[in-house]
Amino acid sequence: ESAKVVVVGGGYGGATAAKYVRLLSDHKIDVVLIEPNDSFISCPLSNLVLEGARDLSSLATSYDGLRRQHGITVVKDYVSAVDPAKKTVTLARGGSIRYDKLVLSPGVELQLDTVPGLSEAHAEGRVLQAWKAGPETVALRKQLEALPDGGVYALTVPEAPYRCPPGPYERVALVASYFKKAKPKSKVVLFDANPDVTSKGALFKKAWSELYPGLIEYRPQHKVVGIEGNTLKFEVQENFKADVLNVLPQQRAGQIAVQTGLANSNKRWVGVDYLTFQSTAAKDIHVIGDAIQLAAGMPKSGHMANSHAKVAAAAIVSELSGLAPNPKPLLTNTCYSFVAPDLVVHVASVHEYVEAEKTFKTVAGSGGLSSERNALEAQYALGWAKNIWADALG
Ligand code: FAD
Repeated sequence: ESAKVVVVGGGYGGATAAKYVRLLSDHKIDVVLIEPNDSFISCPLSNLVLEGARDLSSLATSYDGLRRQHGITVVKDYVSAVDPAKKTVTLARGGSIRYDKLVLSPGVELQLDTVPGLSEAHAEGRVLQAWKAGPETVALRKQLEALPDGGVYALTVPEAPYRCPPGPYERVALVASYFKKAKPKSKVVLFDANPDVTSKGALFKKAWSELYPGLIEYRPQHKVVGIEGNTLKFEVQENFKADVLNVLPQQRAGQIAVQTGLANSNKRWVGVDYLTFQSTAAKDIHVIGDAIQLAAGMPKSGHMANSHAKVAAAAIVSELSGLAPNPKPLLTNTCYSFVAPDLVVHVASVHEYVEAEKTFKTVAGSGGLSSERNALEAQYALGWAKNIWADALG
């Protein structure tokens, strides 16, 4: 009987891992991918839906490529439990599947209950996050469309680490781009729990003030501690009322990882052996993507999740073939951010495994940062998206 790898989550990490286990094993290892959504929907580029420059459907890719080109069994379901001792996963609709190796790439859970009032406001559809691309992205766009000229949109950012460090800063630029065209008396206020913009700070601030003068107000060191109606309450500062609230709470590893007892780092993130991405809490369970405790300098990004997936897939195929893992894996990252629908900035880095410290370190002199926002990088950003979707799902 062939060895079997089960992958939970068909996002940036999971889809890539499923495909690369098949490729690296010459299709000899059986792969089952379990994902509740009909198709993959990309968070990268989803802030352009809020701007009005793109449709949500343009962010979707079908799982048919994985089924047809790579012989992966894609099961549309949600994994409700993992039994690390029996090496089985239980499906929400019933039944269970046995694995030799399990890959979890469940992304993040948004901890709504850490902000009093947020769970209720979210359930009523009043205060959205849209931090997982999908119907909520469209619903937030509708709230922005319904905002009268002169209205206020407020976005709140939790303390790092959270999914996509530059994402909130890109979002306020693109919402301002929409306001500038459609309702120029409106305002964007960004409340950041961090002391300053955590990624590409100088480039974002320059773009905000030059492209959208007077439209975006940045208020650092503002930690949200409650929501009442349309009012934000802060730990230190005065309350603030806005027409559209977009509150991003603290995050942790996707629920299935927490429930399985794998979130052993600050009770939020999954500790892994960086050589193989095997959980430090359970044998034969490899965890990748946003759910893990990252080494310094590694952001929670789709590009990183794709890179983790390849290292994990290679380690799994090696082990199932009786070989040792690659002793010196490398990870890469590029994050493009739109500051207008046709203007982009980027940051890039390379991370190498350092045996003596058993962790990844940023390679000195690798990567870089845009010197200025520009239109050519907008083309590169779209090319990046097309290529990574093809790499993960094609
Ligand atoms: P995901 O891609 O979220 O995949 C998780 C999958 O697991 C989901 O499909 C979910 O349905 C499934 N799942 C969860 N639990 C279960 C379960 N129990 N059973 C079965 N399936 C389950 N990154 C970049 O690199 N570049 C960018 O430009 C960029 N822009 C972004 C902009 C925004 C607005 C946001 C929110 C994020 C952005 N990111 C970007 C970050 C990127 O989206 C994430 O880092 C990436 O999605 C992480 O991949 P993942 O596999 O860990 O999680």
